[in-house]
Amino acid sequence: MASAVRGTSLKRILLGLLAAVVLLSLVLLARAWSVESRQVDVIPADPLAIDAASAARTLAGLVGIPSISPQDPADFDGGAFARTHAYLAARFPELHAELDRERVADWSLLYTWRGRDPSLRPILLAAHLDVVPAANDEDWTHPPFAGVVRDGVVWGRGAIDDKGSIVALFAAATALLAEGFQPERTVYFALGHDEEIGGDEGAAAIAARLSSRGVSLDWVLDEGGAVAGGFLPGLERDVAVVGIAEKGSVSIALDLEAPGGHSSVPPPHTAIGDLSSAVVALEGNPVPAGFDGTTDAFLDHFTPELPFGFRVVLANRWLFDPVLERVFDGIPQLDAMQRTTTAVTIFDAGVKENILPPNGRVIVNFRIHPHDRVETVRDHVRRVVANERIRLQVGVRSPPRNPSAVSPVDGAAFTTLARCIRSVFPGAVVVPYLVLGGTDARHYGGLTQNVYRFLPFRLDADSMRLLHGTDERLAAADLVRGASFYAELLRRGAGAPGS
Ligand SMILES: [Zn+2]
Repeated sequence: MASAVRGTSLKRILLGLLAAVVLLSLVLLARAWSVESRQVDVIPADPLAIDAASAARTLAGLVGIPSISPQDPADFDGGAFARTHAYLAARFPELHAELDRERVADWSLLYTWRGRDPSLRPILLAAHLDVVPAANDEDWTHPPFAGVVRDGVVWGRGAIDDKGSIVALFAAATALLAEGFQPERTVYFALGHDEEIGGDEGAAAIAARLSSRGVSLDWVLDEGGAVAGGFLPGLERDVAVVGIAEKGSVSIALDLEAPGGHSSVPPPHTAIGDLSSAVVALEGNPVPAGFDGTTDAFLDHFTPELPFGFRVVLANRWLFDPVLERVFDGIPQLDAMQRTTTAVTIFDAGVKENILPPNGRVIVNFRIHPHDRVETVRDHVRRVVANERIRLQVGVRSPPRNPSAVSPVDGAAFTTLARCIRSVFPGAVVVPYLVLGGTDARHYGGLTQNVYRFLPFRLDADSMRLLHGTDERLAAADLVRGASFYAELLRRGAGAPGS
């Protein structure tokens, strides 16, 4: 009798469990089925009618001027920037006749294209004139500053980053001017001259000048995203990542002074040992992660476009977030999206093999997630290192920089941008994301809350490596596509509100 009762209740429990599993599965599947795409529907735009070969030659000429931001300021060559200014004026005469141009901080340029309606807030399109140096010239297929066009491809440093963007933008504006187009809103083109070393002179001065004139912008677009092919296995479509924020950065030095002395009578730990413990502690205790803000926005836009298997997980983040965080932990590119990263970059200690090191220094570079601040990172280091003898110096080598604000993804500016992207890159999935490096865009954060980062070029995994790398190049066809994007953006984004 008793065992029969036990059997019945066991059966009930099993049935209950089974029902719960079935119910849970149904909920998971239903949510995966029902997530709605956030992609805007658009009609593909006609490509801009510009001469691809001529645009490529223009870009090649611009690449041929080595406007380098050198590591050592003493190596700066203002002449290259003066030649760049003259070259742009010569290659885009219509634009230079119609727009006002002013030099800012000697080498940056600010163009003003007056809009029909001065009561509307202007927009600003940013790019940069400078490039990083090209190491090991001999490894390049064509020399980095020769400005070679071969088989419809422009080769050289800056072809993508960011001279391709300048030529595409100016070609688009020139084509629109030929149609008699005048933007509704005033449009600024802001070309910084020191983006690759922080933009603290160029873009910062342009932003300060606009601010001193009382300008408040509707939105800003700078580099920082792109159209990526082969982004994820199982996803054939291109993904257009649009930066809605960028990380901050701070380098913190850990300094330790020790008694020194002869190595024959050592203490249990030398300065090197103690600093090593601190390094191990910092690497073992990363700054806490979080799926908030930018990561949420990224996943919300991405999830509906993924194959069903991925969607079951990503559409049920209420259940799977802890698992997802583990997955992100293990992949450096994803981990950098969810937390402030820790990179021990310099370790400096010791003078002679038989002398105890009298001091030591470790420098750790943190890239700060929008949910942290310089001070939270400093406090984290102090807590984790937990050694009173180690002194912290915050902001060594370069001034600390907080992360940018996070721009909205539900406003008219982002929607217009997404519309323009999809009309020129049909089928591309537009996804907001967090830019892990730095761009000039952050300097314009005081003029608008709508700061976006996107370069209208399609880059696959291989061409991503070309940025700042060897054999940087851009096809003329991509240049024309980029120009088509800017033309769409000037037509729609510089229009009246809601247009
Ligand atoms: Zn750049």
